[in-house]
Amino acid sequence: MENNQYTDLIKRKQQITKQLAVLKKDKKVQEYLDLCNLYSTLTKEEKTLSKKLKSQEYSTCNHICCCSLVERDYQEGRTHRYYGCIKCGLNERILAKTANFTFSQIIKEHILNPDEEIMYNYLTSKSLSKKNIIPGNFELNRAIYLKINAKYPEIDDETALRYLKYALYKIQNISVNAKRKTSRALRLSLNPEFNKWD
Ligand SMILES: [Zn+2]
Repeated sequence: MENNQYTDLIKRKQQITKQLAVLKKDKKVQEYLDLCNLYSTLTKEEKTLSKKLKSQEYSTCNHICCCSLVERDYQEGRTHRYYGCIKCGLNERILAKTANFTFSQIIKEHILNPDEEIMYNYLTSKSLSKKNIIPGNFELNRAIYLKINAKYPEIDDETALRYLKYALYKIQNISVNAKRKTSRALRLSLNPEFNKWD
């Protein structure tokens, strides 16, 4: 039974190989294949370039940092704070996420997504400058900053921070019901369950 199945399969493959060889001689098909190859080459180049551009953005950003993760080591009685930049998104949290893995595990086991990998590579060679630190929740600060920046792309840091402070003031002083909190989270592209408004 399986023997027959195997013979049929091989025959079918041979047929297809012949059909492919005929099709390959067709000009339109050749054009299609060439375009597919070119497309995949361009996609590779795009990935390399976007990595470079992101790294460049990290190194030229005048970071505005905010604490993004607090980890308490109860055994050693120490607290470790990780910071992230609300402007470029560079976030030391990635170091906490990878702390228990070796470099080869991180690569082989796909611990990080491509964006996180760029961040990881950057932070393991350079440190995040924490000249400007602001209080509050990282996700919320970054979400508001991104909204401000989308509306005023040329805005300077000082003005952006003033707008940010005002937005936070309104969020923290005007009480709204749960439904409106959810829609506010969605407007800010935050998780709808986000609840660290204070
Ligand atoms: Zn930055």
